[in-house]
Amino acid sequence: MPDAHAKLSASGSSRWLNCTPSISLESKFPEQEGGGIFAREGTLAHSFGELILQRFNREIDKAKFIRKRNLLKNHELYDETMIDHVEVYTSVVIEKFQEAHAEDDDAVLSIEQRLDYSKWARGGFGTGDAVIVGNGVVEIVDLKYGKGVPVFAEENSQLMLYGLGAYHAFESVYDLHTVKMTIVQPRLDSITEFEMDVSDLLDWADNVVKPAALLADKGEGELVPGSWCKFCKAKSICKARAEANLTFTSYDFKDPRLMQPDEIGAVLRQAAELSSWADDVKKFALKEVEAKGVKFPGWKLVEGRSNRKYVDEETIIGVLELEGYSEDELMNKKMKGIGDLEKLVGKKKVDTILGDLIVKSPGRPTLVLESDKRKEISLKSAAVDDFADDLEN
Ligand code: SF4
Repeated sequence: MPDAHAKLSASGSSRWLNCTPSISLESKFPEQEGGGIFAREGTLAHSFGELILQRFNREIDKAKFIRKRNLLKNHELYDETMIDHVEVYTSVVIEKFQEAHAEDDDAVLSIEQRLDYSKWARGGFGTGDAVIVGNGVVEIVDLKYGKGVPVFAEENSQLMLYGLGAYHAFESVYDLHTVKMTIVQPRLDSITEFEMDVSDLLDWADNVVKPAALLADKGEGELVPGSWCKFCKAKSICKARAEANLTFTSYDFKDPRLMQPDEIGAVLRQAAELSSWADDVKKFALKEVEAKGVKFPGWKLVEGRSNRKYVDEETIIGVLELEGYSEDELMNKKMKGIGDLEKLVGKKKVDTILGDLIVKSPGRPTLVLESDKRKEISLKSAAVDDFADDLEN
């Protein structure tokens, strides 16, 4: 489950561990209201997982299980494949618990356990989807319902922080020597595992987490761009990320005329990041122009391209049949496209006889260079306030 309420959150840890001022920079950007659709879908999938494991753990009776499951099935984001995917995760948990229990009668399965690692990062906590403790081992099993970005268990700082929290929660009762971490990402057919000796995890906590958390909490340290920028709220206009991308454009090629294979390899590697950065900047700029009327020198907002479409195909066929065209001429398997119809009937005639039966809806606003021939869309009358002010205050 998301642990968004912790400032030094486990889910955002790859950012604040690597780029300690990122939390302070992100605080200048608004939260997405109610979470995006993928976050809400993930929450629903986790609710199913929790319910199935509660029933397995005999925490709820069958009637309550069925009642709650039916309620969840009424959710607008529910689809029939969801339970199949979630059951991949619950089967892993159940299997791991049964193995632990076979070796240790005192093994326990804890569902949606709060995992507090604030001893190393002020206010830090998260929620472990499933935590199994027994035989000297504490194991976290985490469900990742998304399928957009593959997530792996190896050296995953979110899971390592959960591991710390789990160790902290159970160390007084169990003699723990190993922390295991598993990520189940069923929609990508991926189950990955990673384990650490407790001593190595504590070493990481003291020497990596603690100092980074102290800096992050105060908004201090160096901005360090990297793969962790992907989910940073500041990623579109962060100067450190921009500089890292622009530095590459001054790459020192060996041959002044032709690139060598290793250089082509380097360019291709960087191209993906450059393109995703440019995309982020463009999306941000478009939003600013649309929502606040911010003006970016050299750029203007225009109506994007759009396609024409038929209003009522049956009426159009009727009109054209009256003009002497046969159904065979007008149809393939379905009605021919507008361009083909213009070739058959003539553009002028189509305009005259079909008129309002063909419409063109307005294209989505697009940001283009000022030299573009399209007319600038008049901006909203909404107050246009200093763009920089919003971000600097
Ligand atoms: S975009 Fe990257 S470098 Fe910039 S603040 Fe975010 S994580 Fe740090």
